[in-house]
Amino acid sequence: MGITAGLEHIIRENEPLAPYTRLRLGGPVEYFVEPTHVDELTEVIRRARQEDLAIRLLGGGTNLLVRDEGVAGVVVNLAAPAFCGLEVIENGLLAGGGVQLAHWIAAAVREGFSGPEQLAGIPGTVGGALHGNSGTHAGDIGQWCCGATVITRNGEVLERSSDDLSFAYRQSSLNELVILDATFQFESEPAETLTKRMQKLWIHRQTSQPSSLEASAYVFRDPIGVSATSLIEQSGLKGTKVGGAEISERDPNFIVATPEATSADFVQLMDLMKAQVHERTGVELELNVEIW
Ligand SMILES: Cc1cc2nc3c(=O)[nH]c(=O)nc-3n(C[C@H](O)[C@H](O)[C@H](O)COP(=O)(O)OP(=O)(O)OC[C@H]3O[C@@H](n4cnc5c(N)ncnc54)[C@H](O)[C@@H]3O)c2cc1C
Repeated sequence: MGITAGLEHIIRENEPLAPYTRLRLGGPVEYFVEPTHVDELTEVIRRARQEDLAIRLLGGGTNLLVRDEGVAGVVVNLAAPAFCGLEVIENGLLAGGGVQLAHWIAAAVREGFSGPEQLAGIPGTVGGALHGNSGTHAGDIGQWCCGATVITRNGEVLERSSDDLSFAYRQSSLNELVILDATFQFESEPAETLTKRMQKLWIHRQTSQPSSLEASAYVFRDPIGVSATSLIEQSGLKGTKVGGAEISERDPNFIVATPEATSADFVQLMDLMKAQVHERTGVELELNVEIW
């Protein structure tokens, strides 16, 4: 039967992935799927399993590097309205996995829910942020999550309650194939206070990291007790280039891709950074960005 039969309206073959990622790099995927509701999504997961095709979830594409040769199998994009609902509930929010993190933060601030304003400026979606427990030194998204609906690699829809959720630095027990939606609970604070805090953090980010117009990635996780940024700086790497990939002058834990860059340039530069930091400081850096 194949994977596309009867689902031609939501599946595109050989779709370039670069436009769906922040880095705008890399080749096409065999099957690109944009389901319009959950039943279509579970059917695609079932068929991919039957056909023995790898299947991956795309969020905002802000933490992904797609290789130049592209990706085998299936990539699912949760951009349809069915996956992007955002609802105010008692003391919190219910958000679809495809909701833009910026919209989730804005809703929380508007409702006087404190915490999310500290994540202002992190790009991507709620699903992507929960998958990697994204955050800053002021807080990570997982600390407000008290339940989620997920889909497993078998296509089973499950409810995960707060009892079986755990989060640590850039780690999340929400590791099923799809985070469909999640509920969040917050403390209250006046919306004006939250707005001011959010604006301050936002301005700080605009001056301390690559601009939102630049194709960039936040490359390494912070080792315990030290920032990756300072280790890269200490290793004298600021401004280093490989082909069209360049370490950011603003924050050397970001690599910026110029229009000439390839994914291979990016990988080579990350390898060089890792090797030099290890040689100069003895610390083994761990990748934050995911390579597909
Ligand atoms: C300028 C810039 C600043 C950044 N600042 C920070 C920061 O301060 N802190 C921080 O933690 N990160 C930061 N990042 C990294 C990145 O933005 C975050 O990790 C973000 O949360 C990734 O979300 P995304 O939707 O783009 O995920 P993607 O990049 O699309 O995907 C990342 C992973 O999440 C999975 N995923 C995505 N959506 C779902 C879903 N619905 N269900 C299941 N799995 C899913 C993907 O399969 C993939 O494994 C920054 C990146 C940039 C470019």
